[in-house]
Amino acid sequence: MNAVLASNNSHKLEEIRALLADKFGRVYSLADMGIQTDIDETGATFEENAFIKAQTIFDFLGGKFAVLADDSGLCVEALGGAPGVYSARYAGSPCNDDANNALLLKNLHERELSFPKNRRAYFASVVVAVLPDGRKLAGEGRVYGTILDEYRGNGGFGYDPLFYCDELGKTFAEAQMSEKNTVSHRARALAALKEKL
Ligand code: IMP
Repeated sequence: MNAVLASNNSHKLEEIRALLADKFGRVYSLADMGIQTDIDETGATFEENAFIKAQTIFDFLGGKFAVLADDSGLCVEALGGAPGVYSARYAGSPCNDDANNALLLKNLHERELSFPKNRRAYFASVVVAVLPDGRKLAGEGRVYGTILDEYRGNGGFGYDPLFYCDELGKTFAEAQMSEKNTVSHRARALAALKEKL
């Protein structure tokens, strides 16, 4: 069965194609299907947002294709789980990684004026599949670490330079992509979804 990924993010497409190669014939991007859209992520959870994206594209394609979608973000303990589902637009839209990282540090520093320092955090990802036979499946993955005070490393994207991964002993921005993929929230969510498929 062929599938469509409800995203144009080339990094996600590459990762999902590699990990689900034995489950789907081809995984097309929205651009491959000639679809240009900006779907409002109005859900309160990663899972709700992933299903909103997948169902919108599934309905648009008339229910003929399996549709995959993911939603992910960073959850910081001392900030009550923020930025969470707002990770991409934490400092406003459109997404600006530098502004998001600066705001994250500012909010942590402000909180630390009154509370003990706690930098525990995790990345979470939910990958879902809406299938033509009516099944709706979801897999979730997490990876734990701490938020640093300074940026380390030049790789990756988003909050990677501030996220020190417990399992790798370095920030995600210092890790090779292949190394990050061995522990990443998205890889784990894909593995969980694959089990169900
Ligand atoms: P989305 O899943 O494309 O909506 O992305 C959510 C946001 O979470 C991204 O824009 C990043 O800010 C952040 N994020 C998700 N996964 C990662 C990651 O692996 N590294 C760094 N930031 C991430």
